[in-house]
Amino acid sequence: MKISWSAAVKSSGLTVSDSVEFPVELMRGTDVTRMDRIAVTVGVEATAELCVAEGELKTGVTYRCARCLAEFPAHLETGFREVFSRSPLTSEQEQAEVVYCPGNEIDLDPYVEQAVVLAIQTQPLCKTYCRGLCLVCGANLNTQVCGCDTRKVDPRLEALSQVYDKLTEQ
Ligand SMILES: [Zn+2]
Ligand SMILES: [Zn+2]
Repeated sequence: MKISWSAAVKSSGLTVSDSVEFPVELMRGTDVTRMDRIAVTVGVEATAELCVAEGELKTGVTYRCARCLAEFPAHLETGFREVFSRSPLTSEQEQAEVVYCPGNEIDLDPYVEQAVVLAIQTQPLCKTYCRGLCLVCGANLNTQVCGCDTRKVDPRLEALSQVYDKLTEQ
C-alpha cells in the first residue's frame, strides 16, 4: 500500500486503511501454511520534510503445530512505526533508522511485511499441552491412544523416564 506525502501534509492526522497480500515466498521456512490478507490501518503525520507512519496490522493465519503437525488457526496482530525524510539523511537520522524517501509516494509494503515476519511464531503449538506424535507409530496422541511403549525408544530418554517414574510413584 502506498501513501501520498502531499495528501498527508494537507490533512494532518490522516488515517489510511487497506489490505495487503503477504508474499508466499516469505512464508517459506516458517510454520505458517496460510495467511489471510493483512488488514492495515496507518496513521500518518507529515510536514514538508518529515513523515511519520504508524501502522496497526491484523490478519488470520494457519500454523502447522511444531509437535503434532496438525494445522490450526490463529490471529496475528502487530504494528510498525517508520519515519521518512524527504532530504538526504543527517547522521543522527541515519542512526535513528529514518528512511530517505525523496518521491511523493511512500510504499509501506516492506514495513508491513517486515513487522509480520517478526510477529510469526516460531515453534507454534496447537495447544499448550500438545502431546505430539507417537515416536513409534506416528499416531497423533491428542486424538488417540496407540498403546506403543515409547519409553524404550530413545536410550537418552531412558534416564529421564526413570526419574519421572520415581516422581510419580510417590
Ligand atoms: Zn499439536
Ligand atoms: Zn504409537
